[in-house]
Amino acid sequence: MVLSFEEIAKSYKRIEDLSKRLEMTDELIDLFTGRSPAELEYIVRLTKGEVRPAFEGIELGVAEKLAVKALYQVTLISPDEIEEKRKTLGDIGSLAEEIMRRKMQMSLFSEELTVDRVFKSLEKISLVEGKASQDHKLKLIAELLHDATPLEARYITRIVCGKMRLGIADMTIVDALSYVMTPEFSDIIEKILSLRPGEPIEASVKAISTHKTAALNSLIDLISHPKKNGLDPDIIQKVHPLVDDLRSRIKNNRKIMVKAYNTHPDLGSIANKLMEFGIEGLKTIHVQPGVPLRAMLGERSSSIGSILERMGGETALEYKYDGLRVQAHIWNEEENRSIVLFSRQLEDLTDQFPDVVDYINDRFQGEDGIVEGECVPVEPNTGRLLPFQLISQRRGRKHSLQEKVKEIPVSLIVFDCLYSNGNDMTNEPYLVRREALKGLFKDLGENIEPEKGVSLSKMKIVKDPVIGETFFNMSLEDGCEGIMAKSISGSSVYQAGSRGWHWIKYKKDYRSELSDTLDLVVIGAFHGSGRRKGRYGALLMASYDPKEGIYRSVCKLGSGFNDQHLFEMVSIIDELSGPIEHVWKNVDSKMIPDICTTPDLVLEVLGAEITFSPNHTCSFGKIKDDAGLALRFPRFTGRYRSDKGPTDATTEEEIIGIFGSQNKIISDRSS
Ligand code: AMP
Repeated sequence: MVLSFEEIAKSYKRIEDLSKRLEMTDELIDLFTGRSPAELEYIVRLTKGEVRPAFEGIELGVAEKLAVKALYQVTLISPDEIEEKRKTLGDIGSLAEEIMRRKMQMSLFSEELTVDRVFKSLEKISLVEGKASQDHKLKLIAELLHDATPLEARYITRIVCGKMRLGIADMTIVDALSYVMTPEFSDIIEKILSLRPGEPIEASVKAISTHKTAALNSLIDLISHPKKNGLDPDIIQKVHPLVDDLRSRIKNNRKIMVKAYNTHPDLGSIANKLMEFGIEGLKTIHVQPGVPLRAMLGERSSSIGSILERMGGETALEYKYDGLRVQAHIWNEEENRSIVLFSRQLEDLTDQFPDVVDYINDRFQGEDGIVEGECVPVEPNTGRLLPFQLISQRRGRKHSLQEKVKEIPVSLIVFDCLYSNGNDMTNEPYLVRREALKGLFKDLGENIEPEKGVSLSKMKIVKDPVIGETFFNMSLEDGCEGIMAKSISGSSVYQAGSRGWHWIKYKKDYRSELSDTLDLVVIGAFHGSGRRKGRYGALLMASYDPKEGIYRSVCKLGSGFNDQHLFEMVSIIDELSGPIEHVWKNVDSKMIPDICTTPDLVLEVLGAEITFSPNHTCSFGKIKDDAGLALRFPRFTGRYRSDKGPTDATTEEEIIGIFGSQNKIISDRSS
């Protein structure tokens, strides 16, 4: 049966009205179930609002003006009138829906849109290039809109303009796919029901067929407290193993999915493979030059002593360079060497750093490889590290790139090797990977030599906290932001996509009483007054809760902005703003700012301390009833963390951890 786009548009509408991650997962499970491999691939891509994975660099992102033009062509409602409506509605999707609703009354013929047709047309739009590309895109959009219902138009225009923003994190899609790929699901449910467990278990089990994840969680909750819930112990003894079995199957499938996603972050092709070959098919996904891996991340610590304790008494320490993380892929294609650079957000950076590509080309002596490093601005004569801000001036630049390359020379300081000469290195321990890394480049040393362009991160293996502290101080003197401790145990594999204790960062910002900066997400803005009239006076900032997929407010940020920041912020906020019900689906905040924004922009923030606050929702009620945690005296450091996406922001759990260690220090001092 051909799948209509209307069916998935209705599902998107339901998702828009949901805010809880589990409910969204359930809706996605329904949307994904029973699809063919190609259909599921298209649905997953459309749900993410893209036609190809972001790392391939093929973007839709059509200007809203073009979508408005297409609306005019299809409805003949005057551009002025459409523009007027756009001002009041704000969001391009709601505008298209409203305008198309009026068109419905005049339209005579239209053909039902299928998912296949919508996807393929969007794919064409993303690939159109050249002189007449705008006209061609306009034609393709208008053709789709001509046959679209108002609801379909809502999502077609959003996807086309790169503004789908359903608020679904990739991990929610992974969760939903893990359920879909657990076919034993209904068997186990049948088995439980055949035991005639009686109420309330029966009702709870039956609910699983409609409310999947949420109902399974309540069933687990129910049977975990048999006494309190008045359940028969004999029945519980039989039901428990069946539920545990179901949970462990889902968990196991999820683990395989997450591993596949971390090594090949293209959910569309993973979904296709899943439907074609089942969960086992995912085990054939391997590290492959050209496809970026999700970055490994570290935990944080506030002393060398605690790092050594965590690492079992001995650890490697590396300088923590302050620049831009780069994953360089090098391989040969028909005798030609290909070099592609990816950012931590998996964007293709190759065109922005032609000098780094040249350096790698000169120095690389392996057959192929994937290496990670920090791209840092350096003083051309001495190799001295320069402030990271300079690197931002090189990012996103198309015009006058050559001048900027000369003006701001950079070096790549490599620190890890994920693939070497045909071998996946991610399952090797740290020291083995470091040896492989040394072998991949000619004459690779720890001193930065600007003319060579590639050097190795400075590293020392330490057991003694005093020697560790000296190394840390040296790193600061040399212009780094601290150190990265790396486990040298046999199990210190490269954990793509996860934050773990194999790596621990230790930074110190002497300007602050807090030992580290936070990376917080902008969720709104307050109009400025006085000197800041016409600009924004403060931003509402949030931390991230990955378990629920929710952003919770943690402070109102008004200091640290210079005139340039304030000026830039107007257009940035404008781009991210929208109706609260659209942009704040995953936001939990008591404060309502003048402008609500989609959680997207991450800023580095310093603060004096973490305190209780009844006004902020971060960790609300978790440590103290009626209060959350807030950052006192927050100040913008001037650093836009464009290398981080909103889900990479400081988590609620990290803030609780900082609050805990800060209070420990205070009580240690006073005792
Ligand atoms: P943060 O961005 O504060 O969470 O710190 C993690 C980042 O430190 C990584 O994403 C890298 O970009 C950067 N970094 C700098 N030097 C190193 C190093 N030697 N090893 C690992 N990461 C490093």
